[in-house]
Order: sequence, then structure tokens, then C-alpha cells
Amino acid sequence: MNMITNHPPTKELQELDAAHHMHPFTAGAELAAKGARVITSAKGVTLTDSEGVELMDAMAGLWCVNIGYGRHELAEAAARQMRELPYYNTFFQTTHVPAVALATKLAELVPGDLNQVFYGCSGSDANDTNIRLVRHYWAAKGKPDKKVIISRKNAYHGSTVAAASLGGMSAMHAQGGLPIPDIHHIDEPNWYAQGGDLSPEEFGLERARQLEQAIAEIGEDRVAAFIAEPIQGAGGVIIPPETYWPEIQRICDAHEILLIADEVICGFGRTGNWFGCDTFNIRPDIMTIAKGLSSGYAPIGGSMVSDEVAEVIANAGDFNHGYTYSAHPVSAAVALENLRILEEEKIVDTVRDVTAPYLAERWTELADHPMIGEAKVCGMVASVAMSPDKANRAPFQAPAGTIGLMCRDRCFENKLVMRHVGDRMIISPPLILTKDDIDTLMDRAYRSIDEAYLLAKKEGLFK
Ligand SMILES: *Cc1c(COP(=O)(O)O)cnc(C)c1O
Repeated sequence: MNMITNHPPTKELQELDAAHHMHPFTAGAELAAKGARVITSAKGVTLTDSEGVELMDAMAGLWCVNIGYGRHELAEAAARQMRELPYYNTFFQTTHVPAVALATKLAELVPGDLNQVFYGCSGSDANDTNIRLVRHYWAAKGKPDKKVIISRKNAYHGSTVAAASLGGMSAMHAQGGLPIPDIHHIDEPNWYAQGGDLSPEEFGLERARQLEQAIAEIGEDRVAAFIAEPIQGAGGVIIPPETYWPEIQRICDAHEILLIADEVICGFGRTGNWFGCDTFNIRPDIMTIAKGLSSGYAPIGGSMVSDEVAEVIANAGDFNHGYTYSAHPVSAAVALENLRILEEEKIVDTVRDVTAPYLAERWTELADHPMIGEAKVCGMVASVAMSPDKANRAPFQAPAGTIGLMCRDRCFENKLVMRHVGDRMIISPPLILTKDDIDTLMDRAYRSIDEAYLLAKKEGLFK
């Protein structure tokens, strides 16, 4: 057990945390009563809390610690960069070495002709940038009315006012007066919950064709872009039917609208290729990146932009947009080192060829459990849908998320960090997970699901 205790006692930390720290996406009063779990250190795929408990982190933090915890090379890169040039901006006709080096590397790694990057600090602000980019692009081409962005219900694109508006999370739209105007949401390709009697293939086509209908209704001359995650992450790891993306691509090609792929989760190896666009053969005009770009070691994000869009923007005078920390040199240096490790240690290749196939084999075994209605996996991201009536893909007779929360609590008890979205359980582990780690993960996941099952039965939630 890790006995490093050079910090105040847990209880004291929890009280100070409750008194002074507002947590994101958390019911504050409830957490204050309970006390937050204090994470003190991490290595590889394992977190250690202030009581010395070790947890396997099957979420890679928030889907971001792709190379795993504890890589000192990134700490060295940050320290080196801080000593040499801790900060400079790229606003007024200046640049710096990390900005150039990372942009060059990204242009090489990202598919297609996405050869330019506009840097931000997160996925959210990158999607804000995208809204401004696509609208400015069409205005520069003499079409200022082309400004509606089509997105999807239950999508997640971040938490700023604009990014949350792009997203389709009803709980987020319910607070703070969202969404902003000129964002239109179509239905998501969630066959399990919404496919009814259609086959997944038929349903995928139907959902994709909603994009074409929306373009027709709004008018092609008013639609600027369509934005989507290759796989919906925070929406519950919804892997679309195989027919979905080819039809979306066909529709975007047939109409004059830009395609924005939000690769904040799927990027940098998550799906077993460098990008979700590689896995699903998507050819976007703009790509949102963040999270795995630095494996979460430093905040950085950005928009990869196609040659054509970048050229129009470049010839339209000043683009009146930017962040103080766009291309932050320390974050850029850390991201570069992260990409070096991903590449040189062939982490993405190992996921594709070795560990993802093994995870797929083990994860799909979960579908044999009486409470698991579907088990889906793509690369190193996976989900299961829990159901009291598998044959009919029925929801529970309890508020959505009741069983999910029970299961997540069982996971913590069994030393596994797995998240729930409603009554789906999801994982997105570090990409360095070994086959042995996968066995451990599966043992703990199965035990937790089974314990939640017995609890749910005991509480009469199976009808
Ligand atoms: C996390 C996420 C974002 C937002 O990124 P932040 O860095 O939290 O602002 C945007 N899009 C997707 C798909 C995400 O998963």
C-alpha cells in the first residue's frame, strides 16, 4: 500500500474542499455532506487516494490520459520549456518553437488536408473557435446568412455557452439560457435506445438522412456546418451503425456545408487508429482536438483546418479571435512529447493489433449477463446497456440512471473507476492497458455489474 501521507488528513481536505471548491457537474450540497474522494497520486493505470486505496482508472481521467500516468518525460519537457520560454503569445506576428513544431507534427498525423491548426486550451474553446471559423468562412465567401450549425441531440461538445449550445445535452440546455440561436439539433444514431423494430443498418441510414432533411428545411444557403463526434462519448459511448457515417459523408459532399469532426475523445489512438476519422473513413473540413493531445498532462486543444478553409480565412483580413494561451509553449512542448511517446512506443499500433481485439473479446462476454442488453466496443472505448428485459431492450421501471449509479458505486467498492451515463456503463481506459490489466478490469467490472444486478432485484426494480 502507498503510505505517503505528507498531506493533511482526508477529513480536513474534504472539509476545506467543501468550503471553498465548486465542483463541475456535481450537486454541491450532496457532495459536501459525503466528502469528495481525494486522489493523491497515480502511475500507469492506477490511481491512489488519500487513504492509500488503489483504483484502476478505466476512464483515463476524463477520457484523456492516453499514455497513462507518471511519465516523467512529460514533466521534463514542461520544466525544460518553462526554463527556456515559459510564455509568449502568437497574436502579433510572432511565433515560437513549440507552436511551430507541434503544428508541423499535427499536420503530419491528422488525415487528409487538415494542415493548419488554430490553438486553444480545451475542447470547449476549440468548438467556440469552430463556430466563429465556419461563419467567418462563409461570410468571407459572400454568404453571411450561412450560419446555422446542425448538431445532434445528446452530443457533447463542451461546456462554454457556445460549445454547450452545440452539444445536445438537455440537462445543460436547461440551465443558463441555452442554446444560443442558429444551432439546430437532429436525432442521434442510438439504435439500442431508439431503433425500435429497424435493423441497426436501416436505423443508421434513417438517422443520417435527418441531416439531409434538416438541410432541406433550413435551406442550404443558411446551413454553415454539421458537427459530430465519430463516436458519442459523454452521451454513453454510442457507436453508430456501420451505415451512418458513409451516409453522413455522402450528404455533406452533396451539399455545400462543412463537416466538423469533434475528435476530442476519439483522437490520438482511442479507436485503435490515430483518429476516429481513420476508423470511420470520415473526411472532415475541420477537426476538434484536445484531451489525448497532451494525455491530459497540460491543458491544450485546437481546431485542425483544411487547406481550403484556412486559405479563405487567411485571405479575409484579421481573424478577430484568439486566446491568451493559444499555443501555450509549455502545453505545446508537453503535447509534442506525448505524441513522441505515442508514436515511438507504437502505442496506437499495439491497441489496434493486440489489446483492442482482446478487450473486444472480453467485453462482449458481458452480453451473456442477464442484465446486459448490449455490449459495444471500438478500440479502447466501450459501453454496456443494462436492461431488466434484454429481449425488448427495455428500460428499468426506475428513473434513468438509478441502476447505473448503483453499479458505479459497486465499481468504486471493487477498486474500478467506471462511469455511468443513465443506465449505460462506459469505459475509456489509458491506451497502455495490458492484457493482464484487461483481465483485472473485466473481473472487477463483472463483479460490480453482478452486485448491482442482485441489488436491483432485491429492491424490486426488475418487473
Ligand atoms: C470533453 C469533450 C469536449 C470538451 O473538452 P474540454 O477540454 O472539457 O473543454 C468537447 N468535445 C468532446 C467530444 C468531448 O468529449
